[in-house]
Amino acid sequence: MPELPEVESCRISIEPHLLNQKINYTIVRNVNLRRPVSKEIIDLKNQFILSIDRRAKYLLIRLTLGWIIIHFGMSGRLILLSEYIPPEKHDHIDIIMQNNILRYTDQRRFGIFLWVNDLSNNVLFNKLGLEPLSDEFNSEYLLKKLYLKKIIKQSIMDNKIVVGIGNIYANEILFSSGILPLRRSQDLNDKEVKSLVSNIKLTLLKAIKHGGTTLRNFLQSNGKPGFFANQLKVYGKFNEPCLSCGTKIIKEKHASRSSYWCPTCQV
Ligand SMILES: [Zn+2]
Repeated sequence: MPELPEVESCRISIEPHLLNQKINYTIVRNVNLRRPVSKEIIDLKNQFILSIDRRAKYLLIRLTLGWIIIHFGMSGRLILLSEYIPPEKHDHIDIIMQNNILRYTDQRRFGIFLWVNDLSNNVLFNKLGLEPLSDEFNSEYLLKKLYLKKIIKQSIMDNKIVVGIGNIYANEILFSSGILPLRRSQDLNDKEVKSLVSNIKLTLLKAIKHGGTTLRNFLQSNGKPGFFANQLKVYGKFNEPCLSCGTKIIKEKHASRSSYWCPTCQV
């Protein structure tokens, strides 16, 4: 499933090709995504792309008359084509611009392609917590929010506290911070919370730079897989020696999510 770094990497790589481009028209071959593709997107003609933003794991394309909201679901991805090539089975949407075609592919069709005239007060965003890379997301903020949840891994994965930290990154961030995933959130001291916040930002920035984790279904918009998976330190490393101390990595399942940690480096 694409996480925040994958979506941000995608945004960064398509932005220079989309900004100020005119969308001539769209081709929607299958409207049946997680929600039906908005009629406004099917009928879209002759609008300019004013900006490409992101909120949590939503990509937001601002056009002359409104916004396209894209969520990649489980397996969605965008590919930028410089010329038309015949679509394959899972290529559901083409956005035809003057110089390029933005093609949406989604094998499992859990993605979202919605139109809104106005982004404010949108139900998709109303209850979301802070962006992890924003200045507002700092240790004072996190410390206040930690009383709400019991386990630290659940807290940092809670979208109402901070958006866009999925299971892979949560494991990596806690390893970098030397904190056990199952620690009670309210037991963390100020220093640990500071370290956690700084590792959240560092890990996500590093992942964005490397194009996100390489997940089977998600390639960068230029068709190349991300490279961050090669750099994971604990996630998926059960029984392998810890890169810092050599102790074997532990794996346990909690609430159907796998947690990985080093019993020596993390306390
Ligand atoms: Zn270790």
